[in-house]
Amino acid sequence: MNVQSKKDNTDCKFIFITGGVMSGLGKGVITASVAKLLQLCGYNVSCVKIDPYINYDAGTMNPTAHGEVFVTEDGGECDMDLGTYERFLDISISKEQNITTGRIYSDVIQAERGGKYLGQCVQIIPHITDNIKERLRQISRENNLDILVVECGGTVGDIESLPFLEALRQLELEVGDSNTLVIHVTLAPVLDVVGEQKTKPTQHSVQELRRIGIQPDILAVRCTSPLTSEVRHKISLFASVPEQNVISCHDAPSIYNVPEMLQEQHIVNAIGNKILLNRSLPLWGDWKSVTRGFYNHEGTVAIAIVGKYVSLPDSYVSVYHALLHSAAQIRKKLQVEWIESEKFEQTDKPYSIEYLNKFDGIVVPGGFGKRGSEGIIRTADYARISNIPYLGICFGFQLALVAFARHACGISDAGSAEVDPKARHPVVEFMPEQRETVKLGGSMRLGSHEINIRESTMAESIYRTDTIYGRHRHRYELNRRYLDILEKGGLVLSGFSDGGKRTEILEIPKHKFYFATQYHSEFGSRLGKPERSFLAFVESASARA
Ligand code: GLN
Repeated sequence: MNVQSKKDNTDCKFIFITGGVMSGLGKGVITASVAKLLQLCGYNVSCVKIDPYINYDAGTMNPTAHGEVFVTEDGGECDMDLGTYERFLDISISKEQNITTGRIYSDVIQAERGGKYLGQCVQIIPHITDNIKERLRQISRENNLDILVVECGGTVGDIESLPFLEALRQLELEVGDSNTLVIHVTLAPVLDVVGEQKTKPTQHSVQELRRIGIQPDILAVRCTSPLTSEVRHKISLFASVPEQNVISCHDAPSIYNVPEMLQEQHIVNAIGNKILLNRSLPLWGDWKSVTRGFYNHEGTVAIAIVGKYVSLPDSYVSVYHALLHSAAQIRKKLQVEWIESEKFEQTDKPYSIEYLNKFDGIVVPGGFGKRGSEGIIRTADYARISNIPYLGICFGFQLALVAFARHACGISDAGSAEVDPKARHPVVEFMPEQRETVKLGGSMRLGSHEINIRESTMAESIYRTDTIYGRHRHRYELNRRYLDILEKGGLVLSGFSDGGKRTEILEIPKHKFYFATQYHSEFGSRLGKPERSFLAFVESASARA
């Protein structure tokens, strides 16, 4: 991003969401829910995620430790919270809205090398903090926002997040008290032996925040059951936050019910009183009725997700939500079992491949590298021969091609160059454009690309159009030398991009539902508007149920 000073969007209000006590309290969901409520009040709202780590972006981080890498339309490899924001707000968010320490420092260092700060000693305050503030202002300007909700990752007290919190403190000073608001997310744990909600962790984390010059306006307190009035009173007293601004964030049936829960406690009024909003009544539209779909079911649909990073379901959080949106749409309860693909490779068989028979549908999501790939190939083949609905995404598309080449076209040594660089028949090959690439970060084929759909195919009937856009994150693709053989074997390749050069969709017409895409369809799904191939898959799976 070229951070430069232009005229400010002086009308923009900033809401900062900070975290206390510990990570994993659901700050992302609270951020998205607050933004949603304000959007439902008619404001132009967007979100920013600050990640205080040094990585430039999330692209090189392990999904089983940090969760999914969310790909934005403009090709950013971002924190998974951006996916939550997109799904709640139904907008597309730019990679510039995921700010990391790496991005800030790299910008400032580049500017220093370019002579921007000639003669000065470049320091955290003011140079780093100025860069952070200017980025936030630039996002508000470029999107012409009424309100920007900024989630600061990490927990107050972390060394890494200090410059960001300092920037927030300064911004408050610069844009004025009535233009900024701080929501601090904390926890009121219950210890089994005592059975009461404890307030001390909240007290301490508010003190920590105050120590760096920030007084929270609202406390969003995570708890298992609603905060009792005594606890609310106590927190209010110790944290110097009015009682009505202590919001109980107790467990909800689904994350999509959180906006409603916050509004039952009049959070928009609490926000509006501080930042002087004149509209404070969310117009729910069909939001509430759609979220009812999460508990008003008629039957279940059981889906196996067979992948490489299933030890942390957040690795595939967008896949899970795309399934959830689809199941809610047809009023089915979604049951998911996460299966490590490697399990289907072992000889001592904790799982035999027939285990998959008990599911109504199988999803194979994205992945990288050799480990577990044979298990995926077996899964893709088993779904085909057993007529079980199959949805493959990226790696699940590529390895379905390999499975088909091996078992339906008789090329027994077909492989993917990613898994076996010496494969005699590399049905999936390294993209030619990638051959010169040496850097690993940000160098895949990324972001949204136009895809042309072939006439009279399943893809056409699913999407009901001849052009779609899909988000990408890959280095490998179908080797076009095998296209004819695969089609002769009964596979239909029904979507192409980059002027027909890249193959994007495969389908098997004779199958109940066998559909896989090179693009990540999961990133296009929204509550109430499930991505169409997911919906078609879940419909087909539930017909089997
Ligand atoms: N590893 C594969 C590639 O790079 C697939 C990537 C993915 O599933 N996102 O092409």
